[in-house]
Amino acid sequence: QEVILEVKGLKMYYPIYSGVFKKVTGHVKAVDDVNLYVKRGETLGLVGESGCGKSSLGKCLVRLQRPTGGEMRYRLPDGQTRDLLTLSKQESFDVRKHVQIVFQDPYSSLNPVKTIYEAFDEPLRKHKMGNKAERKAIIGQLLESVNLRPDYMYRYPHEFSGGQRQRICIARALCINPELIVCDEPVSALDVSIQAQVLNLMKDLQQRFGLTYIFIAHDLSVVEYMSDRIAVMYLGQIVELAPAGSMYSEPRHPYTEALLSAIPIPDPDDSRERIVLRGDVPSPANPPQGCRFHTRCPKCIDICKTVPPELRLVAGTEDHYTACHLVETEEDVQ
Ligand code: SF4
Ligand code: MG
Repeated sequence: QEVILEVKGLKMYYPIYSGVFKKVTGHVKAVDDVNLYVKRGETLGLVGESGCGKSSLGKCLVRLQRPTGGEMRYRLPDGQTRDLLTLSKQESFDVRKHVQIVFQDPYSSLNPVKTIYEAFDEPLRKHKMGNKAERKAIIGQLLESVNLRPDYMYRYPHEFSGGQRQRICIARALCINPELIVCDEPVSALDVSIQAQVLNLMKDLQQRFGLTYIFIAHDLSVVEYMSDRIAVMYLGQIVELAPAGSMYSEPRHPYTEALLSAIPIPDPDDSRERIVLRGDVPSPANPPQGCRFHTRCPKCIDICKTVPPELRLVAGTEDHYTACHLVETEEDVQ
């Protein structure tokens, strides 16, 4: 499978200002040296606690935000690669056609004074997709593709339920035939009873349109259901990246182990030990030296306090990466 997006050393630092003269006194390192890749047609789940940098990373990936450093290579449908960080304005506009984002809150992501028709027509016009009649036909088809009636295009957002609105947002993201969609917790604001319905719809659309998803969530069971591979994020960094199956059956990073041990499973004989992490997540403005997880890690050894572990291929695997000094890597065995 072809790699559609490759990210190396990505950084997103936000300045912290203080005093009347707004002096920069530090940085919140929301994304700090992230490495990952996404294959065409797959769903890459991105999990971590709130504040770990998932949403910032998602926004960087669709260029809603300009990262402060690193590389992001995107492969266009014609096989050419573009470095998303060094694009001109026009190139960036062209690439944005291929990458879209769906946000968590369907209530705030639709403009209340615009009809659905107006909300869809704008991106279509911007990207010169057809004349007026053709655009109207496209909008009708898009609504049908998310199981809504075409004539709903003349309604306003307040006339729809939360689940319907999120389906509308998904349809709008599909407007200009994107290849890659970043879904930032798309169901976490919805009632549990309709979450599965929206997730299944997203799976159908992925099949039908050959989409690639980056699926952000804090809920591991949702991510497991949706993802082919999973990236676990902690304090601005990816600590583990692996196929969903081996992430769940053989997690290697102590943080992933702790997250997984906290998922309740409906088994009365569940004898798994729950790993309780001590302390809170440290501030991303002042992350711990060495391994960022060392202040909470039950397995911490001396070296962890000074030397940051790098994301490396785990020994004996083909695509399971982790960043932990205790894990034997392919390099160690060679
Ligand atoms: Fe824990 Fe050390 Fe591994 Fe970090 S490197 S996760 S502190 S054992
Ligand atoms: Mg978020």
